Amino acid sequence: MIKYCPLCNASSDKIHFIGEFCENCLIKDIKKIIKKEVKIEFCNRCNRLKVNGEYIENTKSNLNAAMFSALDIKRCKSVKINSIDEKFANINITYLIDDEYVKFDDIIRYKMIHQICQECYRKSSGYYEAIVQLRGNKQHIDTIVNKIQKFVESRGAFISKIETLDNGGLDLYLSDKSMMKTFFLIYKLNPKKSYTLYSIKNGKKVFRNTYFLKFEDPQ
Ligand SMILES: [Zn+2]
Ligand SMILES: [Zn+2]
Repeated sequence: MIKYCPLCNASSDKIHFIGEFCENCLIKDIKKIIKKEVKIEFCNRCNRLKVNGEYIENTKSNLNAAMFSALDIKRCKSVKINSIDEKFANINITYLIDDEYVKFDDIIRYKMIHQICQECYRKSSGYYEAIVQLRGNKQHIDTIVNKIQKFVESRGAFISKIETLDNGGLDLYLSDKSMMKTFFLIYKLNPKKSYTLYSIKNGKKVFRNTYFLKFEDPQ
């Protein structure tokens, strides 16, 4: 039996119906509740996107996720960006009505909001939790610096400062002390440790760790 849409009088042999209404009228209705403008936060140093409080790589699929989260539409299954220019995004929305998915396009105005993520903030402010003091044989020092750099950078930490001493020794300032503990364990190094009280956070003492390693010159 052919149905007629009570809103636009379209007939069900020409257009898909969900329940009593034609798909076009339902989509028109959904569009009314969709925000016409959204804000997407990103770090303007590392270019990562902030999605649900976390910074993630600025990739195509993550931008879809950022748009999905910014739009925050109930019963929306997914959002895909078809095309994007400086101000507008043409998006495809998959929406659930009565156990049936409908897909349609919409145009949303968006604004990129500049932020600075914690990592970039820490880098720029010279943040560090550990100092590694390297003394002795220059070649050994260079090798270990390379290893430390690769180790921490591949795990999202960084060296915030390197100080060269007159005797050829180096002081490395590192953003993550627990990562340095792991490093020494893995490379079976046993540095001398000392701790300085750095601050008190929520009633807990926060220490900066200093590690001292001396490499003997080859005989
Ligand atoms: Zn209709
Ligand atoms: Zn950043």
